[in-house]
Amino acid sequence: MKRILSSALVLLSAALLAACAPAGQPIKTLLITGQNNHHWEVSHVAIRQILENSGLFAVDFAVSPPRGEDMSGFVLDFKPYDLVVVDYNGAPWPEETGRRFVEFTRSGGGVVIYHAADNAFPQWPEYSRICALGGWEGRDEKSGPWVYWAAGRLVRDSSPGAGGSHGRQHEYVLNGRSQSHPIAKGLPDSWRHAQDELYDRMRGPGDIDALLFTASSDPSTGGSGREEPLIFTVKFGKGRVFHTMLGHVGPSLEDNPAMQCTGFQVLLLRGAEWAATGQVAQQVPPDFPTATQISLRKAYKRP
Ligand code: ZN
Repeated sequence: MKRILSSALVLLSAALLAACAPAGQPIKTLLITGQNNHHWEVSHVAIRQILENSGLFAVDFAVSPPRGEDMSGFVLDFKPYDLVVVDYNGAPWPEETGRRFVEFTRSGGGVVIYHAADNAFPQWPEYSRICALGGWEGRDEKSGPWVYWAAGRLVRDSSPGAGGSHGRQHEYVLNGRSQSHPIAKGLPDSWRHAQDELYDRMRGPGDIDALLFTASSDPSTGGSGREEPLIFTVKFGKGRVFHTMLGHVGPSLEDNPAMQCTGFQVLLLRGAEWAATGQVAQQVPPDFPTATQISLRKAYKRP
């Protein structure tokens, strides 16, 4: 009787432990910021809220010294992390940080390249390969071809000219190009994004792995007239990279439509999970935008 009772107690405590344990450990994430030609003071907080409000991520910040100050102490340790989110466009990192970042990625770490992070480091070949495409900062045909979508495929155009531009901010529609990819599976073929910049004429090595979403860059808004690749993945060694050119940050968390867009947030969450784990377990939420209707999550979380 005693033995039966103690076995029952063991079973009961095991069941209680299972009930109390979290569904899974959060994805340990390092968000690098501190210098940008954008309001990084707003964007890095928004990104942490988006990621942590999902319950799937735990985010630490690595904030660089301000622009113009000594960077030599900005040596980062990537070992504790599954995922690195780059919200940085500024002075070169110390060589050791760069070496560790490349090693982290090459050996299977997940990376998210967010908006102007693809403007950074035009002289760093490995970083350019991790981003696949970048803009501004003197980029031209020596940086790689223009890459855009035409007649059902990606075109690589090596004509001379500047890399990186955008017209005026506006709402636009994202068009799915790999709807069977785990990041895009179940999402609408087309969805309308809240007011944002639409990056165009980006250049780089251009080795996109999965092209997820493009958008038509309309000359009437100052665009290129091309269908531009805006959300895609890149392979780098064993590493998975999710690159979104969306999300131009506003002046405050309250006035920040591009990052408040449900589509931006859901793609960031799905892309980040995929970069860290190779899978996406998240369900498509009911508030995702449609082809004609934008959707906002002003509090950076699912309603
Ligand atoms: Zn911007």
